Amino acid sequence: MRIKTILNRIERHPGFVYEQVSWGESAEGPSIEVRVRPRAGRPARCSGCGEASAGYDTLPARRFAFVPLWGMPVAFVYAMRRVDCASCGVVVERVPWADGKHRLTHSFAHFLARWAKRLSWQEVAEAFQTSWDTVFRAVERAVAWGLAHRELSGITAIGVDEVLWQRGYRFLTVVYELTAGRRRLLWMGREREEATLHGFFDWLGERVTALRFVCSDMWKPYLRVVAKKAGHALHILDRFHIMSHMSKAIDEVRAKEARDLKAHGYAPVLKHTRWLLLKRPENLTEKQEPRLAELLRYNLRSVRSYLLREDFQFFWTYVSPTWAGRFLDRWCTRTLRSQIEPMKKVARMLRSHRELLLNWFRAKGTISNGTVEGFNNKAKLTTRRAFGFRTYRAVEIALYHTLGALPEPETTHRFC
Ligand SMILES: [Zn+2]
Repeated sequence: MRIKTILNRIERHPGFVYEQVSWGESAEGPSIEVRVRPRAGRPARCSGCGEASAGYDTLPARRFAFVPLWGMPVAFVYAMRRVDCASCGVVVERVPWADGKHRLTHSFAHFLARWAKRLSWQEVAEAFQTSWDTVFRAVERAVAWGLAHRELSGITAIGVDEVLWQRGYRFLTVVYELTAGRRRLLWMGREREEATLHGFFDWLGERVTALRFVCSDMWKPYLRVVAKKAGHALHILDRFHIMSHMSKAIDEVRAKEARDLKAHGYAPVLKHTRWLLLKRPENLTEKQEPRLAELLRYNLRSVRSYLLREDFQFFWTYVSPTWAGRFLDRWCTRTLRSQIEPMKKVARMLRSHRELLLNWFRAKGTISNGTVEGFNNKAKLTTRRAFGFRTYRAVEIALYHTLGALPEPETTHRFC
């Protein structure tokens, strides 16, 4: 079987012929060059309007990178024709395997983009002997295609979240779709201001009327915009964000207490206990379990905060908003008497958002517990990987690519 035969099977372009396959030399070693010519009698098509047009002249041969074979780079070599189009003037012809200006064939771009979901962009570049920039452009194209072809009707539930990027200095606002059976990153914008979220609702436009649930954190700018723009939807403060406020409070209490104990010359009981206190008991390792049991014997503020949080987990098991509300009130009263300032702060915050919190129970079953948390973790991972990029554009592309559940053209699956 010859390479030409394989190409005609997997990547056939009527109007063009694979003429000759030969060795080429690239900086990295041998490569495979495939010469392409127009099929006799087939006129060139204008890249502006797509009409068959009279030939004008032929440009020098150019290389288009194709999917590598046996670890060797493959390039199509083709001399582009220029046409004299009745409506567009003298322009270069349209070819089916690539966009006029790109040196990357569609097939290779989608191939790289698919690998970029599994590996970092740098790793993809190294594995397929190409540059980081090429991988970035490939992913950018896949994302642009996906965004242009995705289905946007029937969005009934969304979650608004924030993500740190640029080594923790800047925020992004991300909006996820949480509609049953369709969970994905829907939209993102810079910063976490009111204006940011207004940007989302402007983009959403008329589709806002379909919205029934909005999940978010207690971040004021978000609360204000959601109340104004989606007042008809049930606004829910989700479990993940509430519990992460509590974990932050525990962390604060523990850090301060550890410093105080040390300053007063007490044995460092709190040393290396950070994860013991932050983890849920069921997630502790075999080694950590007895250490937590030992730690709980001390009547420390850290321990009391930990127990308050564990007690609060019970809140989420209620079915009726009324009973959940009673539990919440009791928990807040108790916590406000604890004299542990970071925990009291959480209690005050929960109390002032009582109604939004109880909406969780009014929407019971429609939004699953782990969804927002799962997205948040993945987004963190992606932006951490993306710290090397520095630009907002790169982070945006990376997030849509990994979390957008974007559609892909049919042909993408041929090579990977
Ligand atoms: Zn034209």
